[in-house]
Amino acid sequence: MVRRITLGSGDPKRLFIGGLHGDEWKDTSEMLESLDAPTTGSLVIIPKLTDRAYISTLDDRYYDHGGYGVDVIAAINDIKPEIYLELHSYSDFDGLTDPGRIHRVGVPAYIELEDGVLIGSISPILRRACFSMHDVCLSFEIPAENRRSQRLARKLLLFTRDCVSKDEFLDFLLGEYPDQGNRAIDNYKRFYGIEKI
Ligand SMILES: [Zn+2]
Repeated sequence: MVRRITLGSGDPKRLFIGGLHGDEWKDTSEMLESLDAPTTGSLVIIPKLTDRAYISTLDDRYYDHGGYGVDVIAAINDIKPEIYLELHSYSDFDGLTDPGRIHRVGVPAYIELEDGVLIGSISPILRRACFSMHDVCLSFEIPAENRRSQRLARKLLLFTRDCVSKDEFLDFLLGEYPDQGNRAIDNYKRFYGIEKI
C-alpha cells in the first residue's frame, strides 16, 4: 500500500501525487511532504507513488493491472477529489514544450509559467477514466534540481492546496500568467473539444 498523508477534513477534497515514475520522487516528494493542512477542506498527499522504472503516464501500460497507475486510480476512487494535482520533474524541456508534441505523442505541449516550471494536463487516459470536466486536474513539471523552480512550485502548491473551485484556480492562473494561462486553457479546450471550461 502506497503511503498517504491526510490533512484537514471534508470538502473540497484534493489529492496531490509525486514520484509517479523513475526517480522523479527525489525532486518532488519532500516538497509535497512539507505541506500542511489546507485552510478549508482536505488534502491527501501521496509523496512517492513509485521508484520503479520510468513508464510514461500516456502509455496504457502505466494504468494496466500491475502498473503504477493502479494505486492512483484506487486513491481517486477512495477520495473522489475535485482537485487533483500531479507533480513531476523533468530533464527534457524541449520535448515537453515542443508545440509539435500533439502530433508526436498525441497530447498538447506543456507551457512554461516561469523559472522552468511547466503546466499541462494530466494523462487523458486518467482524465477520461476518473474525472468529470468540472474537476480541476493539473500536472506541473519542475526541472530536476533547480532551487528557483522549487520556490515557484511551492507557491503553486500552496495556492492549489487552499483553492476551493475551478473558477478560483482559473482566476489565479490568468491573473498571474495571463498569456500562458490562456494558452494552456486553449490547448485543453481544443484537445477535449469543449467550448468552455
Ligand atoms: Zn513524470
